[in-house]
Amino acid sequence: MSAKVWLVGAGPGDPELLTLKAVRALREADVVLIDDLVNVAVLEHCPGARIIPVGKRGGCRSTPQAFIHRLMLRYARQGKCVARLKGGDPCIFGRGGEEAQWLRERGVEAELVNGITAGLAGATQCDIPLTLRGVARGVTLVTAHTQDDSQLNWQALAQGGTTLVIYMGVAKLGEIREQLLAGGMATDTPVAMIENASLPHQRECRSTLTDMDEAAYRFQLKSPAIMVIGAVAASATQSLWQHDLPVMTADQSA
Ligand code: SAH
Repeated sequence: MSAKVWLVGAGPGDPELLTLKAVRALREADVVLIDDLVNVAVLEHCPGARIIPVGKRGGCRSTPQAFIHRLMLRYARQGKCVARLKGGDPCIFGRGGEEAQWLRERGVEAELVNGITAGLAGATQCDIPLTLRGVARGVTLVTAHTQDDSQLNWQALAQGGTTLVIYMGVAKLGEIREQLLAGGMATDTPVAMIENASLPHQRECRSTLTDMDEAAYRFQLKSPAIMVIGAVAASATQSLWQHDLPVMTADQSA
């Protein structure tokens, strides 16, 4: 197998949510660099590969990004096939695009492989449809965490009418609530917070916008978790989509 780096999404945790292409990349890999949100159960697909953890948790200090870049380059230049495994999707808050570009600029073949991102998986695990006819005509994925302190346009998010899915927000729930309320979102907007989505220890906390941080505190919500904010996150969602779907007229379906 010739040198190549696969930048692979390992999905949200449930090993059955891995794509067939991710499995192929793992089978071909000589070296696997694994992030900490990846469920190690997926490594059953690469029994012979050298496994290198490059995550930021588990007691280890953060592996600097530059070091990860150099590791991928070094192995690729040795003619090895490398799989860089990331939680969820490599291009949703995962630096997949940056890493692919960096490698290609150095003449290394890099291929991105989609994974199921945590926001989509978490919602589905709780039977929340992120878009729903007549209720939510779009979905917006945002991170509450930035390295450069740049601000989101909270007013646009509050008034955009799409379902919001917030990543990396556990430590910022108070701020998220304040900003969305200030931006004009209704106090009783339903919120679902999903911890460890798709894993056996998944937990789910439902609340409304005004008391989301209070509810999370009582629930002892921990990272990794995603927040789904919008009408679709109502606990009545089940009945909402089974019984109350607006009837489509002939014009609308055309
Ligand atoms: N690339 C990843 C996101 C990485 S950012 C993806 O596409 O899913 C890390 C954040 O993702 C966490 O802070 C959390 O908000 C979310 N996350 C990742 N795995 C999760 C899981 N199993 N359950 C809930 N949230 C998760």
